[in-house]
Amino acid sequence: MSERFTGSFTQQEPIPEAGIEAAMAVLRHGRLHRYNLAPGEIGETALLEQEFAALTGARYCLAVASGGYAMATALRATGIKPGDRVLSNAFTLAPVPGAIASVGAQPVFVGVTADLTIDLDDLQAKVGEAEVLLLSHMRGHICDMDRLLAICDDAGVRVIEDCAHTMGARWNGVPSGRHGLIGCYSCQTYKHVNSGEGGLLVTDDEELAARAILLSGSYMLYDRHRAAPGPEAFERIKYDTPNISGRMDNLRAAILRPQLAALPEQVRRWNARYRVLEDGLRDTPGLRLIARPAAEHYVGSSFQALLPDWTGPEVRQVVERCAARGVELKWFGAAEPVGFTSRYDSWRYAQAVAMPESDRVLAGLLDMRVPLTFTLEDCALIARIIRAEVSAVFQTA
Ligand SMILES: *Cc1c(COP(=O)(O)O)cnc(C)c1O
Repeated sequence: MSERFTGSFTQQEPIPEAGIEAAMAVLRHGRLHRYNLAPGEIGETALLEQEFAALTGARYCLAVASGGYAMATALRATGIKPGDRVLSNAFTLAPVPGAIASVGAQPVFVGVTADLTIDLDDLQAKVGEAEVLLLSHMRGHICDMDRLLAICDDAGVRVIEDCAHTMGARWNGVPSGRHGLIGCYSCQTYKHVNSGEGGLLVTDDEELAARAILLSGSYMLYDRHRAAPGPEAFERIKYDTPNISGRMDNLRAAILRPQLAALPEQVRRWNARYRVLEDGLRDTPGLRLIARPAAEHYVGSSFQALLPDWTGPEVRQVVERCAARGVELKWFGAAEPVGFTSRYDSWRYAQAVAMPESDRVLAGLLDMRVPLTFTLEDCALIARIIRAEVSAVFQTA
């Protein structure tokens, strides 16, 4: 009998008790709206912003309704207008090009390398086509940020970081989201903290922070923020900045605060699981692991590997054989996307140019979630199953 995995790839851990208690307190007093405060009270949302600013070392932080909303707000705050072009990753999740489309702008896709990071040669070639790069650290893989910033600085291109998969990660010791002008994060259930939906935005730029806060729907109540610029920054722009309502509420913030405090420990637990998977799959014939550079302190909340130059039917066999043993792998090379889209050619509103090199990488890319409900033993079992099925198909290919 071959081994079978019976766990769930989509089951996250429960909300910590402290978060449940804080949420119950908000429900009991009923002041869920972030600006609905008792005299002298500092709301959960303002405290969350203060704590996330401290965690990332940012001067300013704004909590919003989703990661996608944070990115769209960042683009609006930097002055992106309908018809503008915005550089972004050919391989990312749909809300990234969606945020660009939501402000009426056009994505210019930059390819992906076999290390699963943005192709910096392709970026160098295209950097003159736009004034902003919305850089997605897709699946937690961080590119050579020093080279990326040199390319963008030389061209006068401003960088907004999508850190949906890198909350808690660092490059050369600097937190992900703190290399560009603005960092955006998601607090959606499948990311590194879980409030169902939610997003965070950080920046050191006073005017961008004030704009983002007004855009998010602060009315004239911006003095109730704790990680915001002073009133003078708002005075200058308050009549010219539309309210595009997308605030965070106190209930979600209450759920998130204890999770932020626990993030470093969660990162340690994710990476322990990641390393068990990596060790279990090392030197599997036909399978290529993704090298992680020394400067990259990643969060192993998902795991990727390549079946380089395998045919579609061969990769499909691996996916099906693993699925039959309870291991859910995502494959980015399928002709039709299943469940979600992550490839530039699925976003047809964006008029993408073909990128054969990226297609070649994605055609062999396997991906899986690593929820913290998996034990280290679960990860070892999953690795044994993938190893066996990859080897079986590889031998007959
Ligand atoms: C989840 C995700 C986002 C934002 O997601 P929301 O659901 O809007 O919070 C952005 N980028 C990537 C790569 C993601 O996976």
